[in-house]
Amino acid sequence: MSAFTSGKKKNTKPCVMYLLRRGDPTMFETFWRGPIGESATLVIPGYQTMSYFSDVGNLCWFLEPGFEREVRRLHSLVGNAAVEGYHVLVGTGSSQLFQAALYALALPIADAPVSVVSTTPFYSMYPPLTDFLNSGLYRWAGDANAFDGNDYIEVICSPNNPDGSIREAVLKSKSGKDIHDLAYYWPQYTPITHMLAHDIMLFTVSKCTGHAGTRIGWALVKDKEVAQKMSKFMEQSTIGVSKDAQLRAAKVLGAVTDGYEHQLAAAAGGDANLLFHYARRKMAHRWCALRAAVAASGIFSLPNEVAGFCTFTKDTVTSNPAFAWLRCEKQEVEDLESFLRENKIITRSGTKFGADQKVVRISMVDTDEAFGIFVNRLATIK
Ligand code: PMP
Repeated sequence: MSAFTSGKKKNTKPCVMYLLRRGDPTMFETFWRGPIGESATLVIPGYQTMSYFSDVGNLCWFLEPGFEREVRRLHSLVGNAAVEGYHVLVGTGSSQLFQAALYALALPIADAPVSVVSTTPFYSMYPPLTDFLNSGLYRWAGDANAFDGNDYIEVICSPNNPDGSIREAVLKSKSGKDIHDLAYYWPQYTPITHMLAHDIMLFTVSKCTGHAGTRIGWALVKDKEVAQKMSKFMEQSTIGVSKDAQLRAAKVLGAVTDGYEHQLAAAAGGDANLLFHYARRKMAHRWCALRAAVAASGIFSLPNEVAGFCTFTKDTVTSNPAFAWLRCEKQEVEDLESFLRENKIITRSGTKFGADQKVVRISMVDTDEAFGIFVNRLATIK
């Protein structure tokens, strides 16, 4: 339940405030409560998953073969990223893989800390994840467009968190390195237009299936040495990644692919077994409701709707970003986060993403209840 009761201050009535400032993908729970949820159920007997090792012959020796198989199967189904010739690495969420990639890319060039950059507005966790340990290998250097130099690590998030834009690297130096964060490159958020084949591509079950609590992400890495270094990072920081969590993630990803391959929908009717179809329809519905609320209020604006041909579903569809990047057009509202808080809507200010105070990020993937209350409140703000 994504609500808390704030009744701490004296003389204020308790009121329900909805935490739309996070990106907790609880919206997908309804799907997993449906018929396909059963096939994603996992029982692990007491004697299983006891060894540290999963596959001693693999450079990522803690990677469960069943998880790797399901990652490759899912990408082959959706066609969003190349898997042929790529090493698969597993991490405790893609957050750990992001840090592993920084370590692996910075290591050979780090006389001084390498600058880590991303185009504004950027995912608000990149700066703290980069600078948390005050590493001598790398440091956060802000907006990629303002960067001058040849050695850097550019993070490209596409579709972008917070604004949903489709992005490519802006820096082109031969000695620069790229990390492609593709957490949202799934059909429920955006049309799949290309099979991407970048050097380092990060994914996470958090945003793909909604299982954020399983804490499993994966990286597709072209270069063997980089993959080895990333694997070393996971080995040193946590001696691998939970096997139990990998087995669960494998089961969940497998259920998604099976849903399509077995065409269970034909038997059950509708899209109850087709995660991406189900989730896309729900996201589209929410975006429609949000645009109507923005129109009713008259003081906000959103990024323009973008459409494209999806090679996975073979139709032309609009993108439905996981976050709304909401701007206030009213001159006297300088700090939109505070303004919305006064109206009982909790959001995250643009300043956390390298942008200004007149814009905020709002989650589009929270529960139906939270989303419903949010759009109703927004529509009445004048
Ligand atoms: N990248 C982006 C762009 C994200 O939005 C998130 C989650 N908010 C992550 C990475 C981290 O995902 P995980 O839960 O796998 O650590």
